[in-house]
Amino acid sequence: MILQENVPLAPFTTFGVGGPARYFIPAASPQDVREAVSFSGERNEPLFVLGGGSNLLISDAGWPGVVLRVEIAGVERRGAGRYFVGAGENWDAFVAAVVADNCAGIECLSGIPGTVGGTPIQNVGAYGQEVASSIVAVQAFDLTTKSLVEIPNADCGFKYRSSIFNSSAAGRFIVLGVEYQLTPGGAPAIEYADLQARFSAGTTPRLAEVRHAVREIRARKGMLIDPDDPDSRSAGSFFKNPVISLDHYNDLASRPESRDMPHWWGGLNRVKLSAAWLVEHAGFAKGTRRGNAAVSRKHSLALVNAGGASATEIARLAAEIVAGVQARFGVELQREPLYVGEFARSEPPAVADAWKT
Ligand SMILES: Cc1cc2nc3c(=O)[nH]c(=O)nc-3n(C[C@H](O)[C@H](O)[C@H](O)COP(=O)(O)OP(=O)(O)OC[C@H]3O[C@@H](n4cnc5c(N)ncnc54)[C@H](O)[C@@H]3O)c2cc1C
Repeated sequence: MILQENVPLAPFTTFGVGGPARYFIPAASPQDVREAVSFSGERNEPLFVLGGGSNLLISDAGWPGVVLRVEIAGVERRGAGRYFVGAGENWDAFVAAVVADNCAGIECLSGIPGTVGGTPIQNVGAYGQEVASSIVAVQAFDLTTKSLVEIPNADCGFKYRSSIFNSSAAGRFIVLGVEYQLTPGGAPAIEYADLQARFSAGTTPRLAEVRHAVREIRARKGMLIDPDDPDSRSAGSFFKNPVISLDHYNDLASRPESRDMPHWWGGLNRVKLSAAWLVEHAGFAKGTRRGNAAVSRKHSLALVNAGGASATEIARLAAEIVAGVQARFGVELQREPLYVGEFARSEPPAVADAWKT
């Protein structure tokens, strides 16, 4: 196990923001994970588990204890369309490999940053696909029993941007590897209008063409990490699409200013709204700037580090947007990225607690 001290965390995040970790342990094997957990348990140092840092905002003060960065590598082909992948593998590189093998199931999840181990946590999804449809099982280190466990898909509690790993069992399982079942020779999913518009009706594009199209669409929205694109210095979508009651929706839809509000079925008597539309129509146009934090110029759902931003600036802008949407539409936006470390008391929950060592 390699142990480093006072390591700046900003370079390990896509926001490029955040203070140092008191201790930093890159874990390349399950044994490293076990030793890092023992180290933090014995010293009573709070533990935080980091993947690719693409779905979190680390506070300016950093993390006071141990940051365990999961770097377990390896892609094992276990049969037709079946793969077991180390949690530290880069997600998009794995998607590229699967597409090259002509296996369908995750082609629309091309270009999502972060690690393989990060994908089950919020059940990543995009353009009509979710990783829950392809995961067979998650291999993890259980901090409660201090043992290796295999959690089958049915026990992962996958829902929209959620699983047991970020809800009921948050802070309990360190993902070591994920097993996926893809469909060899399967047809690509092209359900979203953005994607359909790229291909002529009645034709079936190749998986590689869909992957290429998804990455291109993402790049246009600043949703593909590109060191030359400051609008991609973000954590992707900052807010989840809210689901409200039908009565609340009817009330909003009767107002002249929200007649064209995009909406979808959100369950029985529930309506899902577009968080991006709400943000924009609450007065936060693309490019809105507060100090060095800004709403992306390409997508109103992404907050970006416009250059030298602090975590406090980004959190303040997020809080202002939440308050603005609440005041205008009576809708409470929920954040997608996790806040890690110490933030002002005024910040609502969903700040990472220490893991259970
Ligand atoms: C430009 C951009 C576009 C994005 N687009 C999308 C999108 O289209 N759809 C989507 O769903 N998400 C999207 N995201 C969000 C993000 O990329 C995903 O949620 C990703 O899966 C996070 O993985 P990560 O390895 O970076 O996790 P991190 O950000 O490092 O961590 C996120 C959470 O997962 C936990 N975690 C990470 N690894 C492990 C592990 N091995 N074991 C246990 N817990 C772990 C962390 O403790 C933390 O709670 C986007 C982000 C960016 C920056």
